[in-house]
Amino acid sequence: MVGTPLKETEMTRITPATPVAIIGAGPVGLAAAAHLAKRGLPFLVLEAGPEAGHSVRSWGHVQLFSPWRYSLDKAALRLLEPTGWQAPDPESYPTGRALVERYLTPLAAHPAIAPHLRLGRKVVAITREGVDKLSNAGREDAPFLLHIECADGAEELIRAGAVLDASGTYRTPNPLGAGGLPAIGERAAAVNTFYGIPDALGAHRERYAGKHVLVAGAGHSAFNALLDLAALADDVPGTAITWVVRRGSERMGQAYGGGANDALPARGELGQRIRGLVEHGVVQLVTGWRTDRVERTPEGLVVHAGARSLGPVDEIVVTTGLRPDLAPLAELRLGLDPAVEAPAALAPLIDPNIHSCGTVRPHGVDELSHPEPDFFIIGMKSYGRAPTFLLLTGYEQARSVTAALAGDWEAARRVELELPETGVCSGPVAAGEGVASSCCGPVETVVPAGNLISLTPVAPSLISLTPAAAASSCCAPAVQATCCEPEAKADCCGVAAEATGEAGELVALTSASGSSCGCQ
Ligand SMILES: Cc1cc2nc3c(=O)[nH]c(=O)nc-3n(C[C@H](O)[C@H](O)[C@H](O)COP(=O)(O)OP(=O)(O)OC[C@H]3O[C@@H](n4cnc5c(N)ncnc54)[C@H](O)[C@@H]3O)c2cc1C
Repeated sequence: MVGTPLKETEMTRITPATPVAIIGAGPVGLAAAAHLAKRGLPFLVLEAGPEAGHSVRSWGHVQLFSPWRYSLDKAALRLLEPTGWQAPDPESYPTGRALVERYLTPLAAHPAIAPHLRLGRKVVAITREGVDKLSNAGREDAPFLLHIECADGAEELIRAGAVLDASGTYRTPNPLGAGGLPAIGERAAAVNTFYGIPDALGAHRERYAGKHVLVAGAGHSAFNALLDLAALADDVPGTAITWVVRRGSERMGQAYGGGANDALPARGELGQRIRGLVEHGVVQLVTGWRTDRVERTPEGLVVHAGARSLGPVDEIVVTTGLRPDLAPLAELRLGLDPAVEAPAALAPLIDPNIHSCGTVRPHGVDELSHPEPDFFIIGMKSYGRAPTFLLLTGYEQARSVTAALAGDWEAARRVELELPETGVCSGPVAAGEGVASSCCGPVETVVPAGNLISLTPVAPSLISLTPAAAASSCCAPAVQATCCEPEAKADCCGVAAEATGEAGELVALTSASGSSCGCQ
């Protein structure tokens, strides 16, 4: 454990005058509020936008790849169900807009949450009252002090006994420049550049109809942008799409995702539809591309990568990932991985340099702790720059951390995670790197004895394993069952595979996909 979360034997400093401050009324911040309400702990939710789910609203036109049943928090459901709330069909897929209107808005309006929700309150800085980052004296006894900018321009200071930063990463996208800095000329091209997924079939239709659009990035956001633009191109002649990705053509197979092996069929399907658009020439794919300069010419924008250039294009869509805004946290003692910018103990589980399986083994308060006691980053922001966050992961984080704040350490360390598998692993397994750098990650037992991890994906594959299996398997089979390449499997999962074959009860798996990859 890297941080020092809360002292198990001490009362926390959470009181009505110093409540738990939750930053962000997104799905995970509101889930944390529901858990705290259930436990009777005082809390305050501070939301920068004018409504709960403000960031989700920004991509409201996008359909989630998770069905409703993977998009709702259990504590939130316990609040909503007795109110006459109409539960959505669990097997259907919400758009971002539906997630806000059918779930987050009613949740935010619930009497257990609404009185404690402050809209139009942007947290711009956090410190310990009267104690700067350098000082030890009195640090743990000092309440947090949050500096707030209000929508009307006023400023406020709010005291808190603990802080949960659930502010997401949506407002801080990566730039077009491949080195992590804006490309030369990128800022000057801002008026023709969209960061995120434009609503090309709706609100932004006029902007893109009949235009040549360059899309940069290779994740699910890029896929969504490309699909909408392709539908527009089908409708409006003259609409052209160029798609640039950093990876080489030899690694494009992995970029398209797990396909039929993905336990979230809608997620698997996204990549396959993009593959089809590329193969049919609707989307012009350019691989091995690292943008370093954008030049405005009379004909349009010309985009450069070293000696290569593309264009002119009319518009650029940047979907190169998101990063956490760490500026408000500068006075806090954080334990972040230097590359991933996730809590140090969580980072190896999600680092795309190690693996990108998209499914992460159970984690909670211990992995989310920082050297700063009583401070936690949860939700999308907890993943730092890693791309594979799922709502279910965030809901489990909220449950575990709020249980710890309430002093219920048994619940905090109990694993209640259900995660669908991605069916893909694009991590390299370099010779000699050993298990710790394989796609399956380092060996570490985080499950206390007596607990059962169970995973119930959408696909009819059930994996359950006992702590004994978790401890004896380098591969955490509950979450990595389909991610390893065969060679990695042999290196990494031999023990678990053998144990399964002989004992059967340690890992029981039936895969509808028939995939032979993984720790089966
Ligand atoms: C296009 C897209 C599609 C996705 N699809 C799925 C999917 O199908 N399934 C899935 O499981 N996950 C999906 N995700 C990933 C993830 O689950 C979502 O991004 C989810 O919204 C993350 O929830 P969150 O509460 O952590 O953060 P957010 O939803 O980003 O909420 C953060 C909130 O904090 C507020 N805020 C930000 N800064 C401050 C501040 N300084 N002070 C106060 N408030 C602040 C914001 O206004 C926002 O309301 C998707 C993500 C994107 C972008």
